[in-house]
Amino acid sequence: MTNPLSTRDICNPFDDDKLHEECGVFGIYGHPEAAALAALGLHALQHRGQEAAGIVSHDGRHFHSHKAMGKVGDNFSSEEVIKSLKGEAALGHNRYATTGGTVLRNVQPIFADLANGGLAVAHNGNLTNAATLHRRLVQEGSIFQSTMDTEVIIHLVANSKKTRIVDCMIDAMSKIVGAYSLVAMTGKKLIGMRDPFGVRPLVLGKLENAYILTSETCALDIIGADFIRDVEPGEVVVIDDSGVNSHFPYNNPPRRFCIFEHIYFSRPDSVVEGRSVYDVRKAIGRQLALENPVDADLIIPVPDSGTPAAIGYSTESGIPFDLGIIRNHYVGRTFIEPTDQIRHLGVKLKHNANRALINGKRVILVDDSIVRGTTSTKIVQMVREAGATEVHMRIASPPTTYSCFYGVDTPSRNKLLAARFDLKEMCKFIGADSLNFISIDGLYTAMGEEGRNAAQPQYCDACFTGEYPIELTDHENGAEKELTLLTECY
Ligand code: SF4
Repeated sequence: MTNPLSTRDICNPFDDDKLHEECGVFGIYGHPEAAALAALGLHALQHRGQEAAGIVSHDGRHFHSHKAMGKVGDNFSSEEVIKSLKGEAALGHNRYATTGGTVLRNVQPIFADLANGGLAVAHNGNLTNAATLHRRLVQEGSIFQSTMDTEVIIHLVANSKKTRIVDCMIDAMSKIVGAYSLVAMTGKKLIGMRDPFGVRPLVLGKLENAYILTSETCALDIIGADFIRDVEPGEVVVIDDSGVNSHFPYNNPPRRFCIFEHIYFSRPDSVVEGRSVYDVRKAIGRQLALENPVDADLIIPVPDSGTPAAIGYSTESGIPFDLGIIRNHYVGRTFIEPTDQIRHLGVKLKHNANRALINGKRVILVDDSIVRGTTSTKIVQMVREAGATEVHMRIASPPTTYSCFYGVDTPSRNKLLAARFDLKEMCKFIGADSLNFISIDGLYTAMGEEGRNAAQPQYCDACFTGEYPIELTDHENGAEKELTLLTECY
């Protein structure tokens, strides 16, 4: 009997075997071409969410909004759309499908008319007490229009007894728990907030007289803006005509930035938390080679995310690096029909082995992570069919053994290969001659630390260790309660 596949399995059997960052945000204040620059910024952040995008602008009197399913280039390249987003302030958001489903009402930024004026909010992350807060807010009379945890924040801001919008947001911040980097826009301000642990990234930039708050530095580069600094964990940044003002309303716990941003989520040309993502990935590859050497003729990255680590592995081991798998960049998400006859062709739509290079060689495949193991299995088989005499798999992260609840789309734990099997069984499952992962201490060493501080880990690494730094309030019996509309009975 074949396993039933979800719609997402059918639509995209390759990307589905990766963890997915759920969102990218881009806010700009004080530029006559704010919406056009926001569209470019979102384009640079497309890797953080491809299923929907939205931009809200403000022209000094009114808000304007355009949201659509699909990629930024498909929806924000027309002059007509950009011209309709008038004003010198704009806020944009890229979204990956989450629980709650990808429907237009769940596309951000979300907007509300509050007592103290309009407010648009775009959010990257996940509140771990959203369902609990949602239930309480509904009991108190709030009416929800979406299943986004971001809407919970809007209701908390609306219900605050404070008068100034910044104080209302700080009030809301005192009630929410989770990982969040959010940017909000009023008629007169752009406001950035990062959770006290600083799990998700948020940076501040400047272009001429305009300020920018966005997820990654690559979104600053595309518009020629200067990077000023990271927004600090627990910081509230307020940008208005007086410039940039910063608030630290609460005592912060030690920072726990998501280590997976360095391994996979962030773009390699971004500088994250003061480190070049590309350099970190190469260092991880070097450490992986030190920890897990194997005699072979050729190192091949699983494109594209495995490439920097494969270069690092090659540098350390002295084994030549080459492009043995070629990626087709033009595969659409809905290209594959849901029929058994052609589903097995799936992997070749996106990847093909460079047979002339591989034939007769002992090959080391380097990838950034293994999630379900389905893609690894197909890649190993493809490389063998191309004539490799040995196939060794090396992974630039420790085994992904636990789900993420901090804004990353992860399969449930029982679908994670490393949660189901030990190393030997995983190797057998993917059909490789050998399989090894970088150790957790090795990963920290590659990050420039002296190993992992077990008493006070320097990063969030919960998907490898199961040590969740932020309380999972909405969890019951190991499962996360989801936000729903029309189905709850109180
Ligand atoms: Fe990042 Fe993993 Fe922590 Fe999620 S659990 S925030 S993916 S390190």
